[in-house]
Amino acid sequence: MQDVATEAAKRRTFAIISHPDAGKTTLTEKLLYYGGAIQMAGTVKGRKSKVHATSDWMAMEQERGISVTSSVMQFPYSGRLLNLLDTPGHGDFSEDTYRTLTAVDSALMVIDVAKGVEERTVQLMNVCRMRATPITTFINKLDREGREPMELLDEVESVLQIRCTPATWPLGMGGSFRGVYHFGLDRVRLFADSEVIEGIDNPRLDELFPHEVDEWREQIELVGEACEPFDREAYLAGALTPVYFGSAVNDFGIRELLDDFVEHAPPPRSRDAGREVSAEEGAFTGFVFKIQANMDPQHRDRLAFLRVCSGRFEPGMKLHQVRTGKAVKIPRATTFLASDRSHTETAAPGDIIGIHNRGTISIGDTFSEGEALHFTGIPDFAPELFRRVVLRDPMRMKALQKGLEQLCEEGATQLFRPLLGSDWIVGAVGSLQFDVTAYRLRHEYGVECTFEGVQVYTARWVGCDDPKMLERFRERNEAALAYDGTGALAYLAPNRANLELVQERWPDIAFTATRDR
Ligand code: GDP
Repeated sequence: MQDVATEAAKRRTFAIISHPDAGKTTLTEKLLYYGGAIQMAGTVKGRKSKVHATSDWMAMEQERGISVTSSVMQFPYSGRLLNLLDTPGHGDFSEDTYRTLTAVDSALMVIDVAKGVEERTVQLMNVCRMRATPITTFINKLDREGREPMELLDEVESVLQIRCTPATWPLGMGGSFRGVYHFGLDRVRLFADSEVIEGIDNPRLDELFPHEVDEWREQIELVGEACEPFDREAYLAGALTPVYFGSAVNDFGIRELLDDFVEHAPPPRSRDAGREVSAEEGAFTGFVFKIQANMDPQHRDRLAFLRVCSGRFEPGMKLHQVRTGKAVKIPRATTFLASDRSHTETAAPGDIIGIHNRGTISIGDTFSEGEALHFTGIPDFAPELFRRVVLRDPMRMKALQKGLEQLCEEGATQLFRPLLGSDWIVGAVGSLQFDVTAYRLRHEYGVECTFEGVQVYTARWVGCDDPKMLERFRERNEAALAYDGTGALAYLAPNRANLELVQERWPDIAFTATRDR
């Protein structure tokens, strides 16, 4: 491996964000194919068996046909190394998705040409905006009738609050989709046979499309005049997105997207960890953004996904776990070359490594070579749904506790232990999480349990600068208070009115809906 700065400069670590069904999975497959990572079956139909076999590990994924786990895929393209962090498309897994977005340097946004900006895209863009993540836009399914391209750009600008600059432009749409024009290269690629035609004024276009070409030329001239040119600074600041058009399932328009993406997308960026940590620094630093239990049923350990922020990782390295103050020897780590999950020699800034552990690593943990750093901005979100755990076999109490603690540590669900009584309450952002938790408790911990409704509307973490005040608050509200999995105190409000009332009564107590790990 070359020096850290050279290796870092090659990396492009990104995620794809989209509303379900816009074409994220299809685009992922094509990107991997361009990266030489998988031998593609020509159709998307077989994808659930093929690609997911490499990117998803849970049997449940196959049962349900939804992406339950996130995964990481590394592949080379054009002299760069791309790290694509997959995010579950299903809404119930938003916490996992949000945290994954803290580990990328840029994002690819996929929009369905017929549907335009959809709800989940709005939510994900809100998360990206918090960190000013640079966004590249791909408008998909041009082989179908959809909305006017200009109208879509207007919608992206107004709804997502980001300026658009078309990098390519579609020639027709649906049944009369003929190709895309690349503004920067002044080049047309034809949909029918992928023929490349240099220059929009090329007579070849008049020959092939005598009835359509004049309109295209006029449109392209207009669009060229109306839209601002690509400005990399504005793109890197998250203020402007280049827009590409194509059809993922037909593998069309993706080459244009990918060629520009590896040029424009940022290499690993500096990150705040109490001080700015630059990717070019020689000493290793990184943070854990995700924990996954028991991916390999043969081994009961867990995999912590760590984003390398600076320096390099080498097997056998002794790392400093800042939260515990302990030195942890890491004999080997998993990397995520898309072709297989193989063991690597080293990892560079921008890479994700998987560290095996037995519950000693938590989401949000910073690792360094000794410096007391803490990477910020990896949030816990207040769950929106709550259920009481009902254990079928009281003899399995210990196993239940262990299972719940471990699964909640992954972050998709949160465990609350009320100060009074012996109930356990699990909170989640989406209801499917309860099914997943019950399924995994059964299969991984041999515990049969069900979940019962409970009168909790929302949770707020509570804190106060004045310990006496906090103690008074605690005494008066014991019945509504619980400890979360990390021992932090949370107020479980039975309804909205109650929450408002208690906030009014206790103005000095801070009630927060997210908790920075
Ligand atoms: P995801 O939910 O965002 O991962 O979307 P998928 O990649 O699973 O795609 C959703 C559906 O749209 C699938 O049936 C795809 O075959 C289809 N699809 C994806 N890309 C295109 C495209 O370019 N054109 C058309 N017509 N369908 C597409």
